[in-house]
Amino acid sequence: MISVHNLHKSFGKLKVLDNVSINLEPGNVVALIGPNGSGKTTFIRSILGMVKPEQGSILYDGEEILNAWKYRKNIGYMPQLAKFPERIQIKELLDMMKDIRNNNNTDHIDEELIELFDLKKIYHKRTGTLSGGTKQKVSAALTFLFNPKVLILDEPTTGLDPVSAEILKNKITKEQAKGKLVLITSHILSDIEEVASHVMYLHEGKLEFVKSIEQLKMETKEISLNKAIVKIMQQKNK
Ligand code: ADP
Ligand code: MG
Repeated sequence: MISVHNLHKSFGKLKVLDNVSINLEPGNVVALIGPNGSGKTTFIRSILGMVKPEQGSILYDGEEILNAWKYRKNIGYMPQLAKFPERIQIKELLDMMKDIRNNNNTDHIDEELIELFDLKKIYHKRTGTLSGGTKQKVSAALTFLFNPKVLILDEPTTGLDPVSAEILKNKITKEQAKGKLVLITSHILSDIEEVASHVMYLHEGKLEFVKSIEQLKMETKEISLNKAIVKIMQQKNK
């Protein structure tokens, strides 16, 4: 569905992505893990076409994304920090997005998270007055609203209360079962462990490994994802 070939990206002298290649397939939840500054957000932004790599290619369903725009309507992107116009109400924001998408076909609208997060109760609140967690809920609801084939979620559970985080994780699993591709970053490995099918590990811009969660646990004989990753990284550095 999304294939990345030999991607290179530098900011000045700093090499941020160093020859990254990976195939991301529908029905998988791929966790993008790595230390701060390892290139995770740059990788995501490259897929979204917001960062132009110097070398390499990214294909969506076999077509080069460079200078292409249409593929983006298939992607729901939840940024790490959502920024909304401050004075707009939640309802106005959602309506505005529907207008921009020109989505007359309401069959394809997915309002499940709006319901589950009970956002209708606070529809008339202005987004500038919302707490961080509530902003995250609105941002998540917006990301899933147009029923995209690909979901890219950058630290989606940060700031969410446990019940809301659970709702979001269940939603991710539900969408995966429909054959969607989910790419997720999180520092909360227990969250990753619950939803991810695969882990891709970036270190200083290099893709160190891509493995299924079972494979990771089997190879390292560890039960926790955290310990399994630490073990693999230690073995690599020997
Ligand atoms: P991560 O998301 O894994 O924490 P990033 O992809 O955000 O890492 O950043 C990787 C490195 O690239 C960092 O050292 C960061 O400072 C640098 N970087 C990211 N974006 C830019 C930019 N627009 N200009 C200059 N340096 C950047
Ligand atoms: Mg980041």
